[in-house]
Amino acid sequence: MARFTRFRDTQRRIAEADSVAVIGLGRFGNSLAMELMSSGTEVLGIDADEDIVQSLNGQLTQVVRADSTKEEALRQLAVNEFDRVVVAIGSDIQASILTCSALLSMKIPQIWVKAADDRHGLILEQLGVHHVIYPEKEMGKRVAHLVRGAAMDFLEIDRGYAMVKTVAPSRLHGVRLGDTGIRRSHGVTIAAFQRPESAWQNADAETVLGPGDKILIVGPTAKAEDFAQLP
Ligand code: ATP
Repeated sequence: MARFTRFRDTQRRIAEADSVAVIGLGRFGNSLAMELMSSGTEVLGIDADEDIVQSLNGQLTQVVRADSTKEEALRQLAVNEFDRVVVAIGSDIQASILTCSALLSMKIPQIWVKAADDRHGLILEQLGVHHVIYPEKEMGKRVAHLVRGAAMDFLEIDRGYAMVKTVAPSRLHGVRLGDTGIRRSHGVTIAAFQRPESAWQNADAETVLGPGDKILIVGPTAKAEDFAQLP
């Protein structure tokens, strides 16, 4: 019992820090948890599979084996004290929904859930989950934009509005950005640029680009993509 109390104290300490509980440590949950750790966030990882828990031991702040569909099990791990919880259980839709229902009844302020498909996502939204994510769908869309054009990276910030990384087209070379008139003519803004072998910097009206400079274009998706296609 004393050992268990100490164990729960550790979860409490994690919950008080800049921390996230990640439930389901498959490929997506694992990658998300490791990225959070590398940016200094404390992570409580939970998975039903002992082998997965063992393999991540020592790599996350704490990793425990538990069945997340059971609210009592989550409470014993002090998950109810976390402000942010990610549910990364994709293929077992029933387990995902039961886990979310338990988290919602514990009134977790920010619940992020991976949806396997639209039907799963709709149920999660109807339950009242705060953030539903569709990693495969979103990555598929993103790669489609990369495959289609000259973009080196593409991020649709919201429906119809995007950021595109590409090489500065020749019409921008040697001209102050303020004199190019591209906002009026193309409906996009150059937000930042990177000279070869240098760091990224914010762009402004005085910026003059040259061959090989990379740029970050911001604007309506179709316009930003069209601009990225310019030679
Ligand atoms: P991936 O992220 O690898 O694509 P996936 O979307 O296929 O994963 P699953 O493999 O179903 O999702 O689940 C991810 C992880 O969630 C697995 O490691 C699994 O052991 C864990 N998991 C499934 N059900 C539960 C549960 N009830 N409680 C805790 N963990 C669970």
